[in-house]
Amino acid sequence: MNALYNRYRPGTFAYVLGQDGVQAVANAVRNGEPHHAYLFVGPRGTGKTSVARLVAMGLNCDQGPTAVPCGVCQSCQSIKDGSAMDVREIDAASGAGVDGVRELTQSMHVVPAFGRYRVFIIDEVQAFAKQAWQAFLKTLEEPSPQTVFILCTTDAHKVPPTVQSRVSRIDFRLQPAEVIAECVLGIAVREGATQVDEDAALMIGRAARGSFRDGIQILDDLLRGADLGPASLTREMVAERIGQSDEALTFKVLGSVAGHDVPGTLEACAYLLASCEPADALDGLERLAREVMICSSLGGIPTSMQTTPAHDSLIGALTKTLGAPGAARLLEEVGVALQRIAAGADPRVRLELALLKCADPQLAPTNVESLAARLDRVEGIATGQNGTGRPT
Ligand SMILES: [Zn+2]
Repeated sequence: MNALYNRYRPGTFAYVLGQDGVQAVANAVRNGEPHHAYLFVGPRGTGKTSVARLVAMGLNCDQGPTAVPCGVCQSCQSIKDGSAMDVREIDAASGAGVDGVRELTQSMHVVPAFGRYRVFIIDEVQAFAKQAWQAFLKTLEEPSPQTVFILCTTDAHKVPPTVQSRVSRIDFRLQPAEVIAECVLGIAVREGATQVDEDAALMIGRAARGSFRDGIQILDDLLRGADLGPASLTREMVAERIGQSDEALTFKVLGSVAGHDVPGTLEACAYLLASCEPADALDGLERLAREVMICSSLGGIPTSMQTTPAHDSLIGALTKTLGAPGAARLLEEVGVALQRIAAGADPRVRLELALLKCADPQLAPTNVESLAARLDRVEGIATGQNGTGRPT
C-alpha cells in the first residue's frame, strides 16, 4: 500500500490544498454543527477519505470540536490508526451491501462510546445495490443527532436522487500539476532529501494527472528505490522511474509538426526515441497536445494549467502555430497509434506514422481541412514563400 501517502495525509483542513468546497465542511466542524450526511464526490486520489477522517478527528478531538485537530490526543490517535470505536470506515466495493447498512442502522442510535460523534465513512458508495440504498435511505430519514455519515464516491450519478437530496454534496477536483509538485517537494524534504530538482517535482506533478495519491506514490517509489538513500531527487531519476519522455524533445517534435517540417519531425522524433520508448513518447505528445488544444480553445493558458514560465511560453507558442485543429488532429492520431500498438503493431512505425500524418498535409485525409492546407501551400508557392523552409 501507499505508506507515504498514509503518513502524509493532511492533519488539518488548512492543508487540504485547493479544494474550495472543503472550507464549508471545516466551518461546520469548527462550530460543532456538522450536516448529518455528506456526499464527497471526486476522482480517486483527490483527498475524499483524508477529509472524511479529518471531520471525524475534528469533531471528536479532546480540543474540539475544531478544524485543527491536535493529532496527538487519544481520540485523534485512535482515528488515525483505525481503532476508534466511534468511527467506522466501510468499503462498499468490498461487498458491504445490505448487511453492512443494516449493521450501521442498528448501531447508529447507540450513544458514542467515547467521542462526541459517531462517524460512518462509506467509501466507493456507488457500489451499493438497490436494497442497500433502500436500507440506507431509512437511516437518512431518521437522522440521529450524534451521527455523521460521509459517503465517498467517484460516480455521483450512481447515487439515487432520493439520497442526493438529503445529503450535503462537496465536490473534490483533480489538482493542477504545480500544486501536486509543491506537495511532493515538501514531503521529499521532510523525508530527508537534501537536493530536490524543482523540475523533477513538476514532472511527478504532471505524471500524477491530478491525483495527490498518485504523485506521492511515485515519490515513494523513487525514495525507496534510491540506492544512495533519499539524498537527492533529479529529473533523470524521475524520467527513468516513470518512463516520462523528455519534455524539451517532445516540444521540438511538436514544433516541427506545427511547421509542417517533415524531415525536421523525423529527426526530432529520432532524438526523442533515443531517450524513451515509443509508448512514452506518445504519452508525452498526448499530454502536451491536450494542453495546446485547451489553451487554444480558451484563448490563453488558464491559471490551473500554468507551470513554469519556460513551459508556459512553449505552450503559448504552439497555440499559435499548431492551434486547436492541429492539436485535435494529433490527439486523434496518437489515439489511433496507441490502439494499434495495443493490438500488436510496431510502436515506432505507429509513432512515426501518427506524426507524419499531422506534419505532412499530403498524408491528411481528403477533407476540408486538408484542402485548406493544400490551398495554403499553393498560395505560398504562388507568392514565393512556402512557409516550410523546404524547396518546392
Ligand atoms: Zn485530538
